Amino acid sequence: MVFEYAPAPESRAIVDIKPSYGLFVNGEFVDAHGPSFKSISPSTEEVLAEVAEADEADVDLAVKAARRAHSRVWGQMPGRERAKYLFRIARIIQERGRELAVLESIDNGKPIKETRDVDVPIAAAHFFYYAGWADKLEYSGHGTGSIGVAGQVIPWNFPLLMLSWKIAPALACGNTVVLKPAETTPLTALLFAEICQQADLPPGVVNIVTGAGETGRAVVSHPDVDKVAFTGSTEVGKAIARAVAGSDKRVTLELGGKAANIVFDDAPLDQAVEGIVNGIFFNQGHVCCAGSRLLVQESVADEVLARLRRRMRTLRVGDPLDKNTDVGAINSAEQLAKIRALSEIGEQEGAERWSAPCELPDHGFWFPPTIFTGVTQAHRIAREEIFGPVLSVLTFRTPSEAIEKANNTPYGLSAGVWTEKGSRILKMANALRAGVVWANTFNKFDPSSPFGGYKESGYGREGGRHGLEAYLR
Ligand code: NAP
Ligand code: MG
Repeated sequence: MVFEYAPAPESRAIVDIKPSYGLFVNGEFVDAHGPSFKSISPSTEEVLAEVAEADEADVDLAVKAARRAHSRVWGQMPGRERAKYLFRIARIIQERGRELAVLESIDNGKPIKETRDVDVPIAAAHFFYYAGWADKLEYSGHGTGSIGVAGQVIPWNFPLLMLSWKIAPALACGNTVVLKPAETTPLTALLFAEICQQADLPPGVVNIVTGAGETGRAVVSHPDVDKVAFTGSTEVGKAIARAVAGSDKRVTLELGGKAANIVFDDAPLDQAVEGIVNGIFFNQGHVCCAGSRLLVQESVADEVLARLRRRMRTLRVGDPLDKNTDVGAINSAEQLAKIRALSEIGEQEGAERWSAPCELPDHGFWFPPTIFTGVTQAHRIAREEIFGPVLSVLTFRTPSEAIEKANNTPYGLSAGVWTEKGSRILKMANALRAGVVWANTFNKFDPSSPFGGYKESGYGREGGRHGLEAYLR
């Protein structure tokens, strides 16, 4: 019997996308001095809205609003009062969860399954978690005083989630913020601004300035910003570190990664295959901690790859709003071009490319789930971040060879270990130079667990008690 596929699309009716958006400054939506730009849906290339582009003068107004709110209201408010606002925001995120999930899927291209079950619930959880800290800062071990105004710049891969990682701890500690979302994904941040209004958050505590890289530069280099928090590429992170050097700004940087997902021959192979798939195809591989290098023990490599290919054939690529979709659209034409270019280099370098057979939609930006075998350490696809659904497969014979290969990277954000032996997990976790090491799972996040990198993956930790340090004095 042949079954016809029946799509199960989530309705868009719940979201109300306005034709144009201003900046959110001092509790209100205001016009910008500069021009506007368009946010599109990467799965259809449909224009969703015109969004204001903040220039230096706009950013200055936002920083001034944040400064006033800090010195007059938020920085003075007892932690137990601040907590009430954070709890309120967390509850509204839950209440409006479906709206946020649908909007994020449309603007970013990621599957509704993920926005609904990962991005939105974890964003709410971050606000709940840091709401709980707001009146307990004396137990944090990092002081109790706020720093002042935080300038925060985030990327497009987890727009709402990165916003919550940045805003929740900052507010809990009594700071005010000026946040710039990514150019391609501003819409959930603007909906979050409405949520701040709905929660009666005092004006100026949260300011959202939309725009591109220049707006980001204006935020991080503004002289009255006390603390810079950035998530994005290593290249821009380095530029920011240079720009603030010599000032008394505090900085945390969450940058790129090239994580090794290491599968030993005693691992439960079907589970490991699920972990490999989740590690690299979750969020189209647009994940800084993606398991983009598979290191598989030679004795099981053929078996693992056969099972991986079989599993990849079942991945459903397409409409992000279809509840059955596993892999959505690539976020932008620019990112698609980068993925294509690096994949071509992989072929030129002699690695063997295999893509899951799937029909890609005619419009929008798409890349099939892809693996490269026969990859060596010298290949660029083994060293550079691809930030797409592309896995480089390497093999190893001994645990020490696995450690050596896993650590042979300029990055140090995350790693995965698949084995039946607890003692081996501990040994590997100690030996791997990575901020997060997952064992027999991958890409799991919790607000109580610190996240961050070594080496070129940046410095500072977000999440958990550690995440308070950046926002307290
Ligand atoms: P990106 O180009 O560095 O952009 C990140 C953000 O910075 C965007 O909002 C961007 O504006 C802005 N920006 C660009 N130039 C700037 C400048 N000179 N000064 C200040 N801000 C500037 O990175 P991306 O390509 O969008 O994002 C992907 C990267 O982020 C990957 O390398 C990934 O590994 C990393 N990432 C890291 C983590 C982590 O936690 N470690 C999490 C997610 C992503 P535009 O909107 O105009 O680009
Ligand atoms: Mg968009």
